[in-house]
Amino acid sequence: MDYAIRGRKAIVCASSQGLGKACARALALEGVDLVLNARTRDVLEATAEEIRREAGVTVTPVACDITTPEGRAAVLAACPQPDILVNNAGGPPIGDFRDWDERVWQQAVNANMITPIMLIRATVDGMIARRWGRIVNVTSRSVKAPLPDLGLSNGARAGLTGFVAGLARQVAKHNVTINNLLPGPFETARTVDGLRKRSAKAGQDFETFAAARRAEVPAGRFGDPDEFGRACAFLCSAHAGFIVGHNLLIDGGAVNATL
Ligand code: NAP
Repeated sequence: MDYAIRGRKAIVCASSQGLGKACARALALEGVDLVLNARTRDVLEATAEEIRREAGVTVTPVACDITTPEGRAAVLAACPQPDILVNNAGGPPIGDFRDWDERVWQQAVNANMITPIMLIRATVDGMIARRWGRIVNVTSRSVKAPLPDLGLSNGARAGLTGFVAGLARQVAKHNVTINNLLPGPFETARTVDGLRKRSAKAGQDFETFAAARRAEVPAGRFGDPDEFGRACAFLCSAHAGFIVGHNLLIDGGAVNATL
């Protein structure tokens, strides 16, 4: 299927590795020119070169912290009028709610709620004026089913989800869609890091612990980031203009729910 987005311009935040990179690559394979972002410059530049070589699109890396006003300004300066915005950032730390003081909560809300809202605010009016826009927010399955050691994610991402539910319905008539993608467990650096911490806490060796977590997923495995990226590219396609304010779980069935 031709997604009919060749030549469109996208900002993909937090995209040097993991799910953000997979979204960027999938868009690039559909012919979309990219601005990529992450904090670690050499990793980001290597990813930009890898995608450029594979897809033959223009890829501009902007090394900065997307959760700061300066970082967002730098990314927007590289692409002031994106057709596509993929909001993503590092996830909050795991832990117990008693460990999280006001500063930790401010950081989580800033990274996983305010940052995407500020980027939407900066780009959505241009999309409305051009009568074409696609915004995808990477959130988490924690929005549908709270994760006990990820209270910061449960809370901050629910705030973004509530805001987006309203705004998506205000901008849809301009052919601007806003949707959320909710990852379950994917094989990324963040997942491996989380498994290491949890296996250490449980006193089990990493491989045994990880195999047990994979077996818990109805699909019998963790997700491949490419599967996530391809879904993102479809939501950004010309054909997805009637998909509005949706929260799409991509989790191999991990969330045990009927709806
Ligand atoms: P990852 O493999 O750790 O990759 C994170 C990417 O974001 C890296 O490119 C990282 O590069 C960049 N990044 C982190 N903080 C940033 C910042 N402040 N500014 C700019 N770039 C930043 O993580 P992932 O697994 O792909 O997860 C992506 C998001 O999905 C996270 O919010 C995570 O909580 C959420 N999620 C993931 C899963 C999963 O199974 N993987 C499940 C549910 C939710 P630098 O470190 O160099 O900046």
